[in-house]
Parts: sequence; structure tokens; C-alpha cells
Amino acid sequence: MGEAIGIEARKLHAVEELESKVRSYSRSFPAVFSRARGSIMLTENGRQMVDFFSGAGALNYGHNNHAIKVAVTEYLSSDAMIHGLDMATPAKIEFMETFNSFVLESRGMRYRYQFTGPTGANAIEGALKLARKVTGRQNIISFTRGYHGLSLGAIAATGNRFYRKVSGVSLSGTTFMPYDGYLGPGVDTAEYVRKLLMDGGSGIDAPAAILVETVQGEGGINVASKEWLQSIQAIAKDVGAVFIVDDIQMGSGRTGEFFSFEFAALSPDVIVLSKSLSGYGLPLSMLLIREELDVWEPGEHTGTFRGNNLALVSATAAINAYWRCPSFSEEVRRMGALLLDRLEAIASEHGNGFSVRGRGMAVGFDCRKTELAAATARRAFERGLIVERCGPDDQVVKFFPALTIDLETLNQGLEIFEKSLIETLTGVRSNNC
Ligand SMILES: *Cc1c(COP(=O)(O)O)cnc(C)c1O
Repeated sequence: MGEAIGIEARKLHAVEELESKVRSYSRSFPAVFSRARGSIMLTENGRQMVDFFSGAGALNYGHNNHAIKVAVTEYLSSDAMIHGLDMATPAKIEFMETFNSFVLESRGMRYRYQFTGPTGANAIEGALKLARKVTGRQNIISFTRGYHGLSLGAIAATGNRFYRKVSGVSLSGTTFMPYDGYLGPGVDTAEYVRKLLMDGGSGIDAPAAILVETVQGEGGINVASKEWLQSIQAIAKDVGAVFIVDDIQMGSGRTGEFFSFEFAALSPDVIVLSKSLSGYGLPLSMLLIREELDVWEPGEHTGTFRGNNLALVSATAAINAYWRCPSFSEEVRRMGALLLDRLEAIASEHGNGFSVRGRGMAVGFDCRKTELAAATARRAFERGLIVERCGPDDQVVKFFPALTIDLETLNQGLEIFEKSLIETLTGVRSNNC
């Protein structure tokens, strides 16, 4: 064991020597991860870690999910098309037909598919470009604490100063409006948005699009209400803007339904999906475009790795395994309620003004203080739990277990979190006196 730890330390040292300083998660989670299954990750020195991070939301069905793995390995061993730009392939056709049957048609939805480059950011760029082309306008309305990715167009619509300032150029073409709850519980920010966008004298240019997350993931698990989302959609319609839901992180089941906006009965003009769309951690992003808005000329938004066939195969397998009947959705909501209840109990027991918010299996534990959240996450890592932080000051501990996690593992992770929090609180107190 001592020797194994020595090997891991040497490998981590190699990462420090060889990889750019830009690396980030290898700092938060300093271990060498070699294998994983479901909600357990294994480090090179044999430690088992409970995963409440799920690849930042790219692993909703857990690591190496068996049902999906079978489809992936069969496809790989058959010499089927892996790369073909956006040529027609059986993998792509099967994906679109399966998604049509079990996701769109069963919800009364009808959209065209656009496969963009593999990152969420590239899909956002495509959506913004399309909205500007459709409307002939430039301005994009996005929201305080929104996160949409780190290419220039996407950063321009992202609130976080840390990411904005490193872009090195002026970020233009967007106007930020206050998200639901941003000005406190007494203020309906949708009314404010309506006033400014309907008023020809407000100084805000007529928008090409309103771009919104239904729950802000990176922004701190801020949950928008049904009424607020419906108002924002209505405003978009009234001002002639394309209504875009960024469902990259909260879609693919995270909030308990396939799309995070189903509870509010929204019908977005454009839906952006990525992260857990492939179901296996493989890169795949797409736009769902209302047919009337599909005004692209051939090749206007292109890229080498659009609609990667292996990722389309895993995406199809994920839909077949989890979305053909409503039981999975019900199970996610049930587990999400357990997670929320348990965290609320921990928050009220340990005081300190902690608060808990979330929907489905996306839950944030707001520690209010950055150092407290940081120390708790660090202690949790030492005790065998991978958990990330979010929010403008990284003060929120983000609970993102796989949607497929079993109750025992969920409880195991929650116990580690609670112990780590208590240890941090007592440590913080004794440091103070
Ligand atoms: C992760 C994320 C993105 C960006 O996706 P990348 O693949 O990292 O470019 C955009 N929007 C939301 C809501 C995200 O969570």
C-alpha cells in the first residue's frame, strides 16, 4: 500500500511537470483515477471513491453503464463508421428515429436535429448564430450567473468574471438581465425584463434571442420557478426573440424529466443538449431547432467532429435503456427528493445560515462562505467522496450523483459529506478562538 501511494504521488508529480497550469480538476481531486463503474471511481492505489460529481453532469447514467457499454463495444468491434463528418450513417439515422419516438413524439414535440461540434460551447455558438441569422438582430439576452461555455460567443453570455476577464477582448452582443430570485424573493425580475425589452426607450437593443437555463448549474444551483420561466418565454415571443433553453447540464434527465423545462410546459424555439446526451461520457452536442427556424444554408455552421458515430450509438442505447417508459423518471424524482430532504436536515441541524436548493438530482448546499465549502469538499475527498463546488464564489457544494445511484451509495456519500462538514465547522471554530 505504501508503495502504491508512492507510485500515485510520482504520477501526480508527472502531471504537474507535463501538463499546463490551466489544469483544474486534477487539483481539486488529487488522485490518479484508473477505473470506474456506476457511482464508484477507483484510484490507482486502490482507493474507492463515491462519485457525486458525475463528470460535471456528463455521466448521468454512471460510469461504464453496462447497457450502454454493450452497444458501444459491439459497434466498435464491427468496423462500422466511427468518423464521417456529417455524412449519413445508420448510427445517426437510428439515433434520430429513436429520439423522435421516445423523447420527442411522446411529448408532442417536433424539432430538426443539428449536430454541432462536440462541445457544449460550440452548440451554444450555433444557437446564437442561428438566432442572429433568423432575426437580423445582434443582441442576446442572458442572465446573471448564467454559464454557457468558454468560446467567445458563449463567454459573452456567461456571467462569471473569472472567465470573462481572461478572454482578452471585449465581449459584446449580450445584455444581462436578473435571473429569477436575483433581487430577492420580493422582486419579480421577469416584470423588469418585460419592461426593459418592451420599452423602445430603455437603451436595450431589440434581442435576437433570450438564452436561459431552467436551473443554473455552474451559477450555484439557482432554480427558476415555473411562472418565471413561462413569463420569460412569453416575453421572447412578444419581442420577436428566439427562445433558447440551454439544457446542456440540466437536460438528459438531471431534474427528473428528460428536458428540464417539461414541468413548466415550455416549448423553446431552440434546445441545446450536450454533456449527458451520449450517456457514456463521449462527446456529443446537438441543437433541436423548431422547423420554421431552420434557415441555415448548407455548411454555414460546420466542424470536423459533428455527430460522432460512437457517441450516437451510446446515446441511442441510453434512450432505449432509460426513456422508453416513465419509471426511470419517477425513480430519479424519488431519489432527488431523498437527497434534498437529507441535505435540508443537515443544513438545519448544523445552522450557520446554510440553505439547500435544487430540482431532481441537481441539488446545491449553500455554505455562504467560500472557505467553508472548500474545506468541506477537501475533507470529503480525503474521506472518499468526489464533490464539486459552484456559484460565483464557489460557496455552494454541488450534489450531482448519477441518476442511477443506489440508495446505499447515496447514503454513504451523504454520511461522508456530513462528517466532513462537522469536522470543518469544529475546525473553523477552534481556529477562530
Ligand atoms: C457545461 C456547460 C456548457 C458548456 O459545455 P462545454 O462542453 O464545456 O463547452 C454550456 N452550458 C451549460 C449550462 C453547461 O453546463
